[in-house]
Amino acid sequence: MASPFVAGLSCPRCGATFPPEGLHGTCSCGGPLLVDYDLDAVAAVVRRDHLRGRAPTMWRYRELLPVRSSDPVVSLGEGMTPLLPLEGLARRLGMRRLLLKDEGMSPTGTFKARGASCGVTMAASLGVRDLALPTAGNAGAAWAAYGAAAGLRVHIAMPSNTPEVIRLECRLAGADVIEVPGLLPDAAAAIRRGIETAGWFDVGTLREPYRLEGKKTMGFEIAEQLGWRMPDAVIYPAGGGVGIIGIWLAFQQLREIGWVSGEPPRMIVVQPSGCAPIVRAFDQGRLESSPWEGAASVASGLVVPKALGDFLVLRAVRETGGTAVAVEDRAILEAVGLLARTSGILPCPEGAATLAALLVLRDRGVLSGDEEVVLINTGSGLKYLEALRAIGSRPAP
Ligand SMILES: *Cc1c(COP(=O)(O)O)cnc(C)c1O
Repeated sequence: MASPFVAGLSCPRCGATFPPEGLHGTCSCGGPLLVDYDLDAVAAVVRRDHLRGRAPTMWRYRELLPVRSSDPVVSLGEGMTPLLPLEGLARRLGMRRLLLKDEGMSPTGTFKARGASCGVTMAASLGVRDLALPTAGNAGAAWAAYGAAAGLRVHIAMPSNTPEVIRLECRLAGADVIEVPGLLPDAAAAIRRGIETAGWFDVGTLREPYRLEGKKTMGFEIAEQLGWRMPDAVIYPAGGGVGIIGIWLAFQQLREIGWVSGEPPRMIVVQPSGCAPIVRAFDQGRLESSPWEGAASVASGLVVPKALGDFLVLRAVRETGGTAVAVEDRAILEAVGLLARTSGILPCPEGAATLAALLVLRDRGVLSGDEEVVLINTGSGLKYLEALRAIGSRPAP
């Protein structure tokens, strides 16, 4: 049974609506489905201070998640990652306040744990036995781990040049792994057969509604950790864009139930210059991106040539007065080292891209220095041995 707080599902592309019960994939128009909550009902039964005694995991926001409160969840302790002030860097960049949400502390080392915890919980409760997804890597590792925790079979296809640690993680968690020469779309083609003929449930990015719900909790946490306030800007490294869509929705929901007030933060996305379809679409004033040819980057989680949710990312960025920037791989690798030296945090290349973007935006004056800015470090640098070696072999700046 669905949560009493879930009103239904809806397609942000065509407006079609669906009942809350049952197994859902994408809309018949091909669009992703969003979960709609009865926010008046949530506001009527929960107050912010009810959260105080709850465990420090993302499930503390359970009334704003799709699960009934009495149902068990598949959890490895995900969520409530630290929101750390970067004081030295802020001073150096002439900024009032700079913070980093460190998702490197998550189970499996990335924020993909949030989506997998919620997605696997829902799939298991709906009787699914076999999950399948194409992945740039970290989603595969997270779904493999949560699948193992729930006793579900997980089938993964990923590019053969995915960082080795991530490929090993998937196999060690017992997933059925296919390595595919090429990019994410090639991996998607390789897994399609199992989905169409063996009845595996497609849990690829935004192909089921619940991964997004898990990732949304980053927004709840940022607000709670700031004392129920929103920052002025959030900088996010976008691949499929699920995290930024989630944070944007989370702030909307918190405003609607009256837990925060004021203007939502400017949503800023960064992509590597070797795969920046959303940045290009933003610059060209388009509502949707077109597939990026010859995509490649050291930030492998961002090598998504065409995202199903691109139109939602662009909406989030434009509605909040944000922006989109592309940064070179060289700048990303430099930012890994800069963050490690100045803060002690070893970010993944994707997370370091947010710092590289911040340097560009301060330089151009797009960010004045008066704002309170949150960088999302989506994962731990420890998973990226190849990239760390490349950084370690360069002369120190
Ligand atoms: C998947 C991933 C991203 C991009 O996340 P989306 O939600 O697809 O935009 C960023 N960083 C890391 C480390 C990832 O694994």
